[in-house]
Amino acid sequence: MIQDQLGKKLQGIGEEVGMRLVALLLLSLGRLSIAAPDSMPVHLSSAETEVVLQAGREQPSLAALALKGGTSWQNKRSESLIGYVEINGETQPLHWRFSPAASRTSSTGVIFVYDSGTPHLRLSWEWRVRAAHGPLEHSIKIDNLSGNKIWIPLEDSIGFEWRIPRDVNLEQFWVEKGAGQPSDEGTHRVNVTQGYQWAGESSTYAHPRAGQQREIIPWMLVESQGGAEFGWYLGVEFSGRTRISLERVGDSLRVGAGLNPIPSPYRTKLAPGESFETPPVFLGTSRGGPDGAGNVLRRWVRDALNNQEAIQRPTYPLLVNNSWGAGMQIDETVARHMIRDSAELGFEMFHVDAGWFRGVGDWYPDPTKFPHGLRPIADYAHQLGLKFGLWMDWTQAAFDTRPGALNVNDSKVRGWLISDPPAGWKPEEFKGLTVDIGVGAAHDWAARAVNRVVDDYRLDMLEHDGYLVAQGCDRADHPHAPANPGNLRRYQDMGFIWVESSNSTDVSYHATQAYYDIQSRLRKQHPGLLLEVCNDGGRMVDFGSAAHCDYFSITDAYDPLSNRRAFYDASFVLPPAMLESYVERRPSPRIENFLYMLRSGMMGWFTLMLDTTTLTSPQRTATRESLALYKSKLRPLIREADLYHVSPRPNGKIWDGIEYFDPARGHGVLFAFHGSDPGEKNHWFALRGLTSGHSYQLTFEGGSSDGQKVSGKDLMQKGVQVYLPLPNSSELVFFEELD
Ligand SMILES: [Zn+2]
Repeated sequence: MIQDQLGKKLQGIGEEVGMRLVALLLLSLGRLSIAAPDSMPVHLSSAETEVVLQAGREQPSLAALALKGGTSWQNKRSESLIGYVEINGETQPLHWRFSPAASRTSSTGVIFVYDSGTPHLRLSWEWRVRAAHGPLEHSIKIDNLSGNKIWIPLEDSIGFEWRIPRDVNLEQFWVEKGAGQPSDEGTHRVNVTQGYQWAGESSTYAHPRAGQQREIIPWMLVESQGGAEFGWYLGVEFSGRTRISLERVGDSLRVGAGLNPIPSPYRTKLAPGESFETPPVFLGTSRGGPDGAGNVLRRWVRDALNNQEAIQRPTYPLLVNNSWGAGMQIDETVARHMIRDSAELGFEMFHVDAGWFRGVGDWYPDPTKFPHGLRPIADYAHQLGLKFGLWMDWTQAAFDTRPGALNVNDSKVRGWLISDPPAGWKPEEFKGLTVDIGVGAAHDWAARAVNRVVDDYRLDMLEHDGYLVAQGCDRADHPHAPANPGNLRRYQDMGFIWVESSNSTDVSYHATQAYYDIQSRLRKQHPGLLLEVCNDGGRMVDFGSAAHCDYFSITDAYDPLSNRRAFYDASFVLPPAMLESYVERRPSPRIENFLYMLRSGMMGWFTLMLDTTTLTSPQRTATRESLALYKSKLRPLIREADLYHVSPRPNGKIWDGIEYFDPARGHGVLFAFHGSDPGEKNHWFALRGLTSGHSYQLTFEGGSSDGQKVSGKDLMQKGVQVYLPLPNSSELVFFEELD
């Protein structure tokens, strides 16, 4: 009867919204060991990806995933729903029952609802179509409708098991965060052989350790090896501690994603009326390898996750001059010089980095450096047509005692800290002790502090840096689970205090939600305000922060090779306009070397971090011309064009390159870099994404070759030849489709 009711309900809604329902037998569900179906399967799709969803009596399941016009993957198991809760220290089993009456479905989303009678909980298993193109999004919410405080174990965001014939060759692809400095590998392609087991982790602050796998940008692609390059990818939209796992056993490919269960056991507390939500994940299909997947995914991130208010403005991404060229020595005089010079060279924003404040946690201008405060500095930038941005690490407490400062010895603040300061602890110049914004009062303090700073100093951009979002805490009276003394570890690293225990994932779960709330409020209070995620360079680069910031610093090393490597890796999955490179001064005996340095950071968001008043006259001319070229020709491509990795990952010695091509406008550019090896003076780059039968006009920006007309077929098969005899030099090759 329930089945009939839901069938009718879905059919009714399906007819209304044009949704397609198919007969059970189309699915060959008989072969699948999933829970007994309690409804007709539901199809949900974007232009590329289709999922088949099935409400079983006790569990829902993702029955199948299909690449439109291509292949499909069948799931052997239902979603695992948590099987018990703890109440007053007693374990109580849960019995979930599908609720057709509470379930909803439309062409843009499906929610299958399951209820548990005693204790009364409700679980909503949801899929969403966020944009016409791209992956589909999924999450699970558990509401505590009982009158009791309960503890629940870990509910994964997603788990499935594709049936894959043993003789099919598979390849997995993933990329590391550029945390600190990109590693020598960065981008991984691995054969998924029998017995393969892998897990990739991400957190709010990646601090790589020698000999250990680095954190990933939480996403992976699995595709058939060679041949058609059909594949699927899975990503996590959350900045807290998460993991994605992959295992191949027999004819099964087991996949899981969600909060990181390690260190175990995970548990989280739900007061009456509270809810737990799994980190959203997205699942998409692809063809054409990692760049084929990326060209759909990057657009989806722009359409579904990015702040449209920011990215639709024609100056996004902005050209930025950052004060760190003067380091902590920034003051009013230096800032005014830099602002004047920024405007003269054609920058669009002046960004005051660390060094402006009275002390860590005391986010007011240092009166000895800025006797008139920051507002006149912002006003001066605005008068000269520049935006004004500011650095802050708004969860750090230290020793300042002036009103408004976060002081670790203030008993209220002490209670918010992730741990007591160890004996003899001292803050660094711009690093303190992290407060846990998962605590309501700490969240409220931080929300007020950032709002005041944006208002008082007339900011157009606020950058946050350092260890901002807690992912470990030893306090027993915070909303997260308490630490387990059996696996509690405290240590210092990177100038910060760290705590690790089995509650770490729950700490990060609460703090990340509080962080998202603060960022969202700021955007509402200040429409148009830009938000930069720095976090000591490339340590919180993920899809959750992509939805709550406008751009990322992608590494903390600012040399040309590190900048190109970090960009090469992150640009597989994130919109290049969001990927910020800080460019610092490098030895540049020739102007070609100087341009190589600039362009290595000009493939996405460009921030210069050197005191431009010290540039030589030819360097000033090169900077001015490069910024003008960025605005007129590069930025339109960086904002919207497809991107192709047309070389192996940069190693600094041989050649490397990135291609942009916008099929709608028929424009493209090749960034070509010649590394330190003087041997190879010419290099061929095979372009991608062009039309074979069309011809293209090539223009070599640096004049390394004469302009020429070449067919798309030749450019894609033979390639374009770039001649750069000097080591550490570069060229931009523009190409334009002719009628
Ligand atoms: Zn805490």
